[in-house]
Amino acid sequence: MTKKDKKPDPTNMDRDEGSSVVVEERQHLKELRERSSKKDSCIQFYCKECRGLTAVTKHPKKYVFKCNFCEAKQVAFGTEASIHKFFHLKDDEPMLTEEDYKKRMIMEEEEMKRRDARRKERAARTAK
Ligand SMILES: [Zn+2]
Repeated sequence: MTKKDKKPDPTNMDRDEGSSVVVEERQHLKELRERSSKKDSCIQFYCKECRGLTAVTKHPKKYVFKCNFCEAKQVAFGTEASIHKFFHLKDDEPMLTEEDYKKRMIMEEEEMKRRDARRKERAARTAK
C-alpha cells in the first residue's frame, strides 16, 4: 500500500537526496546507450539463465533488462571486455541465436526426463 509513496517523485529528483541513485542510473543508462551505438566500445548483455550473450529488452519504466529468449531478468551487462572477463567467455564468443536457445531447451528437457527416469528407477528399487 505504502509502496507508491516511497517511489521517487521525478519532479523533485534533484532536491531529494534519497533518489540520487535513480539519477545516477539514468545517467548511466544514457551513457550506455551512447556507448553502445559506437562499435568500438560496445555494451554486451549476458543472460545468466541462458548462459550466453543475448539480446535484451529494457523494461519501459524500470532499470531492468529482460532476456529476449528466456524472458528472465538475470541479465548482466557491461563492456565487451568486462563481460568476457567476468564470465570467462571466448574471445569470439558468438551471440546466442534463437536456434541455440531452442536447442538448449530441448537438451534441458531431455536431461529432466533422464533425471525423472532415474528417480523412478530408484523408487521402484527401494519399494521392493
Ligand atoms: Zn535468457
